[in-house]
Amino acid sequence: MELVDDRFLFSALRELAISEGLDDIGIASVDPLMDARRDLKDRKQRGLHGGMHFTYGNPERATSPADLLEGAKSIVVALRRYDAPLSSARPGLASVAHYVARDEYGQLRSGLQAIASYLHARGSAAEVVFDDNRLVDRAIAVRAGLGWIGKNSMLLNPELGSWTVIGSVVTDRQIVIESQDHSNGCGDCRRCQVECPTGALDEEGVLDANKCLAWLVQAQGIFPVEFRVVLGDRLYGCDDCQTVCPVNDGKETVRIQATNRSRTVELVKLLQSTDDALMKKYEHWYIPRRRAEYLRRNALVVLANVADGSDSAVESVVFGGLKSDSAIVRAHAVWAARQLGLNHLFLQVGYESLTRDDPNRWVSNELEMMESA
Ligand code: SF4
Ligand code: SF4
Repeated sequence: MELVDDRFLFSALRELAISEGLDDIGIASVDPLMDARRDLKDRKQRGLHGGMHFTYGNPERATSPADLLEGAKSIVVALRRYDAPLSSARPGLASVAHYVARDEYGQLRSGLQAIASYLHARGSAAEVVFDDNRLVDRAIAVRAGLGWIGKNSMLLNPELGSWTVIGSVVTDRQIVIESQDHSNGCGDCRRCQVECPTGALDEEGVLDANKCLAWLVQAQGIFPVEFRVVLGDRLYGCDDCQTVCPVNDGKETVRIQATNRSRTVELVKLLQSTDDALMKKYEHWYIPRRRAEYLRRNALVVLANVADGSDSAVESVVFGGLKSDSAIVRAHAVWAARQLGLNHLFLQVGYESLTRDDPNRWVSNELEMMESA
């Protein structure tokens, strides 16, 4: 292993990271993340995870960074700042969260790999870890001095704001660098708590996933009826608690843009697509059980919020949803039809056909709700 001073190594890694499209790095130890472990367990026990698995699935593992690599001693934690292409709202168009509008994780991955290669070349073992349930990335970023966890539950960096993706390189090279402490950077601000459309941030710094739109579009089962209208045009993700955050004001633009995807989705086109085409096109999204019916579920809810029911193409895709073999799609098509003033479609499809193969009574419940409204 090459012997170099930690400060020199850190400077070299930072310079490399910046040249590879990352925006900042910090160094963290691999000691257990005990505060994060306590929070995960506490929130899970209180049901605030809303069925989310990810790091809640195994809090011990997600907070034991030393187990990520044999002989692990340090973690290089990196941030990549992102923005989003401009978009314009119009009927039938859904929006997606900023972080998926471009391939930010692809750009993050290549920056992290460059860091890992640099360490390998100097005789150290190194493994790239990002978007991975084996590590609570926000907690390790705080330990690395890269920011604080805001009241919106996001990592906030004083220079970069919260529009960042986080990644790590775990290494057996011991690197000791003093990290900055940014605790309590929110001060008296409560903007995200006030502006969250569902009250998911009512408890300071604690996200109630049961109410968070970004999680609900990724959760299995029926989309909760009380949050369908408030979902608005959001097909994937929700940016509200970051958009209102003053720490994000006036930040520099992104230096190296990731590959463009799209900020908007044509809902009629999505609903006309085959399952295979959908899963291929949106393979980079987290879709429950990797089943296209969940994309259709979300699309029908958003369609009901943003489309015009007198548009024949809209009527046609809702009709298609009512005839779907998937009970979850039919259930949400029932709601969409009602919202769009297309109740006449129920007669065309027929009660028997609507409620066939409906073991969880999803469709029947929707129809009953409609009758009692
Ligand atoms: S992502 Fe949206 S719903 Fe979730 S906490 Fe933030 S503002 Fe609220
Ligand atoms: S909006 Fe205010 S309270 Fe919320 S994360 Fe940003 S600075 Fe903190």
